[in-house]
Amino acid sequence: MKVLKFGGTSVGSAESLKNVKSIVESINGPVVVIVSALGGLTDRLIATAKTAAANDLTYLEEVEAMTERHLNIIDNVIDECNRRDVKDTVLSLLSDLKRMYDGVYLIRHLPQMTLDIIVSYGERMSSVIVAAMIKGGSRHDSLKFVKTEKWYDKNIADQKLTTHLIKEEFSKPFDKAIVPGFISTDCKTGDITNLGRGGSDFTAALVAAALDAEILEIWTDVDGFLSADPRIVSDAILVPHMTFIESMELCSFGAKVIYPPTIYPVFHKNIPIRILNTFNPSAKGTLITDSSCEGDLNVKGISAIRDTTLFHLGGNISGKLKNTVSRTFNALAKKGVKVFNVNRNDEKSGMSFAVAKADADVTYDLLCREFAPELSKGSLSLPERIDNVATIAVVGENMKYNSRLGARIRHTLSRDGISVEGHSEGASDTTMAYVVDSSKVDDALRHIHTLVF
Ligand code: ADP
Ligand code: ASP
Ligand code: MG
Repeated sequence: MKVLKFGGTSVGSAESLKNVKSIVESINGPVVVIVSALGGLTDRLIATAKTAAANDLTYLEEVEAMTERHLNIIDNVIDECNRRDVKDTVLSLLSDLKRMYDGVYLIRHLPQMTLDIIVSYGERMSSVIVAAMIKGGSRHDSLKFVKTEKWYDKNIADQKLTTHLIKEEFSKPFDKAIVPGFISTDCKTGDITNLGRGGSDFTAALVAAALDAEILEIWTDVDGFLSADPRIVSDAILVPHMTFIESMELCSFGAKVIYPPTIYPVFHKNIPIRILNTFNPSAKGTLITDSSCEGDLNVKGISAIRDTTLFHLGGNISGKLKNTVSRTFNALAKKGVKVFNVNRNDEKSGMSFAVAKADADVTYDLLCREFAPELSKGSLSLPERIDNVATIAVVGENMKYNSRLGARIRHTLSRDGISVEGHSEGASDTTMAYVVDSSKVDDALRHIHTLVF
């Protein structure tokens, strides 16, 4: 059995929904289809909530526009005999949504819990439309079977419980099962939560892994995984094949094609992923499997995390470097801070690493706390930080066979006047990282792309 996931642009208009219908209906036998909200809707739901919280009545016009968009799509994709029922269901959801906004407007306050309820309406509505549009379609409500638990101040998937509930939900025969992506409920309180922006991919992976699917197909608006973000590198090329590890690295370094946590559940079950284009369904796309294939490119892609901060810990630690590294990584891991290991280019002794800008203040505090004894003795200097840098990743499991690539990349960047604040080549077999000033990241990506592809 296959699991298919259609992203926002794929379900964003009547025309694209007709493509979805023909793709799904062309599959013989049962299939699970995960859908996102209509393209751009989640952003609008959030923006409208902020408008209402700012006591601005224009939120009402936004609700009106959302209503019109959904009704218009229903008129264009749903058979006349079902149209009234689908409209009634969607209008009832929209009326609940409006009451949520009215409440936010009145109290001028937008708690996270309320925002989580508001954003859930996107997928709740799109899944009603898609289920009614597809022959043999039935809607299966992920609010019942995708569960999250609290992890510090985040909601993360409770994978064990979710797997159990998915198996239960799909234990009876079904034909085309339509599931809203992204949304979930808390395993203890039942409150509505979600899997994070872009999280429909993750819903699809959880379902694919729980049901031992033969393949997870991610249908989107590009021909597959490209060698770089096509919005920045216009001559990015299609990568026909990559491994789970390579796709995981590229996505955790900012490639938006797949939401990063998606890959783990299917990786563990060795379920291949194929990235396909809803607007060009006959294109072969990108296949992601557990190991490299003959003829694979050495470098599979480049991507960047734009907002990062570079840290350096220095002082009298040369003899204790290993210990300093493990204390730093442990202290940060406990708070869920992801670290990119890099070396400073000015060859300062000590250790350097980059973190997401959003984690920079927490990181600084954690370092000061962890190394308080050394800081007070003066054997370690206060952490140095460089803000507004981007971390670029060059990814490919076979790169290790090209030992001069790192030096060539650094040479290219310096020739083009882009200074590299830090780099890591060989820390992992799969990824080389370069830290550059944020304002130079697009140029750097283009220069590296021209060199490598
Ligand atoms: P969906 O709504 O289908 O989930 P997303 O917008 O989340 O789609 O992801 C697809 C988009 O990711 C593409 O339209 C493209 O602009 C962007 N993207 C960024 N990096 C890459 C890459 N390396 N290969 C392909 N697409 C990429
Ligand atoms: N609709 C959600 C978002 O825009 C989830 C998704 O599309 O995957 O983030
Ligand atoms: Mg996406």
